Amino acid sequence: MRSGLPMRFHPVFQTMPTTIFETMSGLARTHGALNLGQGFPDAPGPEDLRRLAAEAVIHGSNQYAPSRGLPELRAAVVEHYGRMQGVGLTPEGVLITSGATEAIAASVLAVVRPGDEVVVFEPVYDAYVPLIERAGGIAIRVRLSPPHWRITEDLLTDVAGPDTRAVIFNNPLNPAGRAFDADEVATVARFCVRHDLIAISDEVWEHVIFDGRPHRSLLSEPGMGERTLKIGSAGKMFGLTGWKIGFVCGAAEIVDPVAKAHQFLTFASAPNLQTAVAAGLAWPEDRFLAMRAAMQASRDRLTSGLAAQGYVTTASEGTYFLCVDLRASGVDLTDEDFCRRLVTDFGVAAIPVSAFMTGEARDTAPETGVVRLCFAKADAVLDEAIEKLGRARAMLGG
Ligand code: GLN
Repeated sequence: MRSGLPMRFHPVFQTMPTTIFETMSGLARTHGALNLGQGFPDAPGPEDLRRLAAEAVIHGSNQYAPSRGLPELRAAVVEHYGRMQGVGLTPEGVLITSGATEAIAASVLAVVRPGDEVVVFEPVYDAYVPLIERAGGIAIRVRLSPPHWRITEDLLTDVAGPDTRAVIFNNPLNPAGRAFDADEVATVARFCVRHDLIAISDEVWEHVIFDGRPHRSLLSEPGMGERTLKIGSAGKMFGLTGWKIGFVCGAAEIVDPVAKAHQFLTFASAPNLQTAVAAGLAWPEDRFLAMRAAMQASRDRLTSGLAAQGYVTTASEGTYFLCVDLRASGVDLTDEDFCRRLVTDFGVAAIPVSAFMTGEARDTAPETGVVRLCFAKADAVLDEAIEKLGRARAMLGG
């Protein structure tokens, strides 16, 4: 504990560590390292959308947008999900937030009461558990295991009890790069229906999904329409992560309390960015497929480059990430030690997956041998990183 702070602040600081993304991006800057840690593309993003956003600053309104979002953006979200995923929404069932992280925070604040249990899957995205706990809830962790990270009925047996209120489900799953299949999504849906749970379904990677897989929204599963908050992210859809425009979608009655929470978090989001995102959501499917194909090519470049350097990786079915299995790759270091050495001595920032395993999951030992790498980078950056990772394995491997 740092001295000089009033004692009453300490518990809050203790439960709010600096995120692994901020830590690793800071180390990347300090050491001038290639940043394959925090997930963001190094490309500037679609020029047509950036121009629209710039023009909207000059010619459009720069005052508060309506708290629930610009009407044209809410209508565009309805049109987009109807056309691309067959999800039926109304504008009253769409809320625009300042990024998906705010969407998750507002959803947790709206749903979780003190003492409520919330089921999460580990590896768990780093924002979920601190938010659940700050809302007074208790996170119940269900551990998934590499290399397949599968969700099964067995894993969910005896997980829910009378105090269980909600599930936070991330599909595709960051950091594992899993896109859950129809059986797994149906398993989660049946679990929610069986125990009368609300699902906060973080689907921010829905457009970053590979090998022709369809995205399956939890919202479309039988019995889920009235209990699912589907969360999306323009930052991830268009590779514009700094824009921080997110969506919460579902039945109007369940989105309404989330909109009430959002009023007191950020109230509203930048109007020019909302205008540009509305135009992007109306893109023909081809443009989304082209972005997906380019990202898949980057995935393949990093996967084959690492294999040539002797690394064993787990399959990436979606997200900007793939994972390295350190022990299978002949490196006998914990993920944290490896990441620290990698950024300081070899000039590449990565993310230790143990940062997403925050507590004691049932009957499981901590998983400390997996490292996440971001491939949303230019070919030259990936090639240089592969070469540096090769040197790291040669020096640190057994
Ligand atoms: N979603 C990003 C990642 O997984 C991080 C976003 C953030 O730093 N808040 O790397």
